[in-house]
Amino acid sequence: MTQIQKSPIQVPEIDRSFCSQCGSQMWLSQISSDGSGKEYRILDCPVCDISKKNLHVAAE
Ligand SMILES: [Zn+2]
Repeated sequence: MTQIQKSPIQVPEIDRSFCSQCGSQMWLSQISSDGSGKEYRILDCPVCDISKKNLHVAAE
């Protein structure tokens, strides 16, 4: 018997952001790091087709 486990990709709470225009939950589309603990996360709104850039600083 084969058991298929569904494991939807879940983003941590910190990655969730809501569109300032329509209030939809935005999708994390890209993560880039500058190598010094700073991380930029690009979020896209699937409704308005706009992007938002969030800066995250990693905790020491
Ligand atoms: Zn939107």
